[in-house]
Amino acid sequence: MNKVYEALHPSILNVMRRLESQGFETFVVGGFLRDLFLSRETSDIDLATAARPEEVDRVLCDLTVIPTGIQHGTVTVLVGDRSIEVTTFRKDGAYADHRHPTTVTYSETIEEDLSRRDFTINALAWNEKRGLLDPYGGFADLKRSVIRAVGDPIERFKEDALRILRALRLSSELQFKIDSACSDALIKHADLLHFVACERIREEWLRLIQGSAASQVMSQYANVLSLMIPGIAELQQKGLYDRSLMRLENVVKDPVMRLAAFCYDFGEDAARLTSMLKQLRFDNATIDRVVRLTGAKKLTITTDRRSILMALHELQPDSFFDTLALRRAEVIAVQRGCSQGDSKEQKSNDEANNIDLIEQKARQILSSGDYLTLRDLAINGQDMLDAGYEGKTIGQKLEEALFSVMLEGVPNTKDAILRSLQKED
Ligand code: ATP
Ligand code: MG
Repeated sequence: MNKVYEALHPSILNVMRRLESQGFETFVVGGFLRDLFLSRETSDIDLATAARPEEVDRVLCDLTVIPTGIQHGTVTVLVGDRSIEVTTFRKDGAYADHRHPTTVTYSETIEEDLSRRDFTINALAWNEKRGLLDPYGGFADLKRSVIRAVGDPIERFKEDALRILRALRLSSELQFKIDSACSDALIKHADLLHFVACERIREEWLRLIQGSAASQVMSQYANVLSLMIPGIAELQQKGLYDRSLMRLENVVKDPVMRLAAFCYDFGEDAARLTSMLKQLRFDNATIDRVVRLTGAKKLTITTDRRSILMALHELQPDSFFDTLALRRAEVIAVQRGCSQGDSKEQKSNDEANNIDLIEQKARQILSSGDYLTLRDLAINGQDMLDAGYEGKTIGQKLEEALFSVMLEGVPNTKDAILRSLQKED
């Protein structure tokens, strides 16, 4: 297990050794080991220790120890620019409301601590003295790419329904199969998900849709997810679900892009889409961007220079290219649904070529400096007021001026712009 030793930063090993030297067994646990063995980038690091939070604080008195989750026995230790979550060995009492243990009691052993963890691949622990502890065969499951519950899956999902979503999310992120007993249990008890807070559902689902196996998991577990994610049932009924998944798979792994790809068919009705996303407590900035991108499907964009400039102006360059990416994903989704030689297939090939051409031209326009915003214009609102324009007309006239500069060769100077506006009045 030299791999773990090498991956651990000396400052983390140091924290572990200091706690051990005071008689407190301390282990690296959970996601860090899982991701390390999968050669995935590891993010946070969790330690489990026999020391109580106040003992961690005493032993590491020269470091900053923040009581971040003291009710669960967790403190965050700052070492240099790293933060480590250190949690006292726990055993959970009975669970209330299928979500929270009624009591959290400290435990003396790492074995007991591992037994309350969700999946075998997350129930691994390592320290220098004892090496890798793997009481549930998690390492073998990592090799087989399988998600399996620690113990009886039905019991584990009944204790904490969030584990149902964690299983789906991990399956998508890691491209792992969920073992059959675990899969049957989560399907059978999917209604327990009603006990999970919307915010937690949103977080797990957002990670799920950004996973590498997002569309497979969304497809296999559509009926589980449809209990919580608005829109799935409707897309299924209308026969649009597979296409939505195909679209999702063909955009970058970005939360807004994946959401927009999935919700594309709701783009015509901004109010409804907003309320669907609000149900999952998405923040306003995310909702606005998704609504804007899905709404942009109505916009006609041709390969004509004027049309490209108008769309760049309307959408702003960032959303313009995101819109093209969504259109491309839609074309792929439609193509996959066609049989070979289909006339629809030919049409979507033409459309794909069009999108490429539009993108090429837009990039040329941007790099040539021909694309201007109202801020680049040599004239502003005050100049318009001075020239005798009033109220709403000012905005309209400024836009008109912008397009005459970009498209009709009107020089970008105050005089020339005013003259061209007056000519048209
Ligand atoms: P990631 O860090 O990628 O989100 P993770 O599995 O590390 O994945 P954390 O939320 O960091 O997730 O949890 C750390 C560890 O705590 C897990 O690896 C698992 O052992 C345990 N754990 C987390 N949530 C639960 C839960 N709901 N039930 C049982 N054990 C859990
Ligand atoms: Mg983690």
